[in-house]
Amino acid sequence: MSTDRQLGFDTLQIHAGANPDPATGARQVPIYQTTAYVFRDADHAAALFNLQEVGYIYSRLTNPTVAALADRIVALEGGAGGICCSSGHAAQIMALFPLMGPGRNIVASTRLYGGTITQFSQTIKRFGWSAKFVDFDDEAAVAAAVDDDTRAIFCEAIANPGGYITDIPAIAAIADKAGLPLIVDNTSATPYLCRPIELGATLVVHSTTKYLTGNGTVTGGCLVDSGKFDWMASDKFPSLSQPEPAYHGLTFGEALGPMAFTFHSIAVGLRDLGMTMNPQGAHYTLMGIETLSLRMARHVENAEKVAKWLEAHDAVETVTYAGLDSSPYKARMAKVCPKGAGGLFTFALKGGYETCKKFVDALGLFSHVANLGDTRSLVIHSASTTHRQLSEEQQIAAGAAPNVVRLSIGIEDADDLIADLDQALAKANA
Ligand SMILES: *Cc1c(COP(=O)(O)O)cnc(C)c1O
Repeated sequence: MSTDRQLGFDTLQIHAGANPDPATGARQVPIYQTTAYVFRDADHAAALFNLQEVGYIYSRLTNPTVAALADRIVALEGGAGGICCSSGHAAQIMALFPLMGPGRNIVASTRLYGGTITQFSQTIKRFGWSAKFVDFDDEAAVAAAVDDDTRAIFCEAIANPGGYITDIPAIAAIADKAGLPLIVDNTSATPYLCRPIELGATLVVHSTTKYLTGNGTVTGGCLVDSGKFDWMASDKFPSLSQPEPAYHGLTFGEALGPMAFTFHSIAVGLRDLGMTMNPQGAHYTLMGIETLSLRMARHVENAEKVAKWLEAHDAVETVTYAGLDSSPYKARMAKVCPKGAGGLFTFALKGGYETCKKFVDALGLFSHVANLGDTRSLVIHSASTTHRQLSEEQQIAAGAAPNVVRLSIGIEDADDLIADLDQALAKANA
């Protein structure tokens, strides 16, 4: 797009990354269903492999459809560069990969998506990496957890299962002081509600599976780099600040400046780890993202109505939604995500575990699934499903006590959602 005007969010979500196709003029982004790209000649091929010229080589590294999506998310987040990945979990590994090494650790919030807690507490140990989990409301504890081997600080903007908003500027200040990048998972907030880079984050990760696609059709992820971190400032990040042996000795931080992290992620990360998004998947997410702002505004409007209604219901003990006046996180919402607290929250039923099970089974419009961020409303009783393997104590710490139900509020008519909840609460408590 050639324009000097600073384009607004609603314009960027439709136009960023997408020019009419140079070969055909196609207005929509074509699905480039190809693995490889013909080189103009041998010199062109060599220049591409040397990163002297930017272009397409092989779709494990880059693909025009996938690149259009990455560029669009980068524009919405206000980043310098980024890559798409096969899933949100892949994006998290791709974010850590250039930073970490055996013996290194990250300091992570205790309030994270359940799958992320497992990835960080168990699986990354196989690489010799580890995570220290800290309550991110306790800023002194976050600072104290940082040691000489710490290479990143990780949190979610609006943390799953909902209600908790991270004070990103405060955590970014701790990361800055320690000379470390702050990685923010912006999945539940989306760049419409929260802009972590403006609040001081270095890297932003997404599960595009959720709100960015918006309709529960594909699994994907994205990693956005602010381009603002000085990798050369210390010897902590040798993959970026020193000659990279995995890429014929190129010093990415020196050669590529603000694009160092992005190019390392493509030339080494995607090349060798292969966590690539496919062009068909990118197409579905490009279709979804065009309406992101409209959907998020409705998700928030509906979530506020439903949360207020639930809070006033006799059978309900508590509602965690940060958009409620009763929430301790309402004040932080104004600072971190002023347009609203998203569409995800939990509530506790006075009746306990059995009542929750009956309630979930009695719902009609709400689908009982392990997903969130869909146009349709979703429900899950964590204690009998995703958090089933945990002790009751662990369930409570994770915000998934036996009497807690998680809702992902869709964009249907709020009155229909409330009517469905009303009849299910009546049946569960009969
Ligand atoms: C779903 C989710 C992930 C993992 O993403 P996948 O696409 O399922 O791999 C990570 N973080 C958050 C906040 C999520 O909701």
